[in-house]
Amino acid sequence: MMIDMHVHGMAHGEFDFSEENLSRFLKEAEKKGIEVMGFAEHSWFLKEIDVGVIDNLRKLFPHIRICLGMEVDHVPDMDGEIIEKIASFPFDYVMGSVHEIEGWMFDHPDYSHGFEHRDVDELYEKYFSLVDNLIESGIYDVIGHLDLIKIYGHRPTKRIEDFVVPVLEKAARRNMVVEINTSGLYKPVKEIYPDMSILKLCKSLGVKVTVGSDAHLPEHVGRDIFRVLELLKEIGFREIVSFENRKSVYHPID
Ligand SMILES: [Zn+2]
Ligand SMILES: [Zn+2]
Repeated sequence: MMIDMHVHGMAHGEFDFSEENLSRFLKEAEKKGIEVMGFAEHSWFLKEIDVGVIDNLRKLFPHIRICLGMEVDHVPDMDGEIIEKIASFPFDYVMGSVHEIEGWMFDHPDYSHGFEHRDVDELYEKYFSLVDNLIESGIYDVIGHLDLIKIYGHRPTKRIEDFVVPVLEKAARRNMVVEINTSGLYKPVKEIYPDMSILKLCKSLGVKVTVGSDAHLPEHVGRDIFRVLELLKEIGFREIVSFENRKSVYHPID
C-alpha cells in the first residue's frame, strides 16, 4: 500500500488551493500507484483551504483516498484562537512540525548561517524540548520530520537516543504518529527524517509511523516512499498509518 501524507499543493504560496492545481498532484499520485494522499498545507494558508474543492477532487479521483490535513509550525504558547480554528476545521489529520527555535527559522536556507555561532548540543536540547512541547500540547495527530534539526548535517556530541527516547515514549503514551519524511534525502544531510536508528526505536517503543514526501511540486509526490516501505519491513513494521476524521487508519505494508 503506497501512501503519501505530506503534500503541499500550494507549495509556499506559488500555487492556489484550486481543483485545477491540486489535480496536478493527484494525477502524479495516480501515475505512481499511490492509494492514499494527504494534502498538508502550511498553516499560514488556513484561510485558503476549501473543503468543497477536496469534495470535488474525491469525485474526480475515486481511486485515491484524499485526506485533508495541515502542517502547523509549532511554537510554544500558540494563539488559542488558531488552536480552536484548527480543531473545528474538518481535517483528517493535523501535523505538528518544529521549524523554528526562539524565532530563528533554522531549516530555511537563508538563515542556515545561524548554526555557525550556536552550540549544537544546546540546539538539539532546545529543538527536542520544542518537540516535547508539541506532543504535550495535544493539538496534533502526527509529528512531522522528527529530527529536522540535522538538516545541514550538524550532529550533537551526545547520542541521538538520549534526545529522542523521552519524546518517543511520550508519543507512544499519547498515541501520536511519527512521520517518515523523504525530503531530507534532497537536503545537505541526505538522509530521511528520522534516521534508521530512530525508526528502530519507534518500533521497539510501539510508536506507529506514517510516510510523506513533503512534495512542493507535483513531480515530487511519492518520491522515495517505496524505499521507505522496504526499510520499514526490514525493521519489522507491518503497517503504516493514514488518517480519517482525526483517527488513525492502518494499512498493511505489502
Ligand atoms: Zn515541515
Ligand atoms: Zn512540509
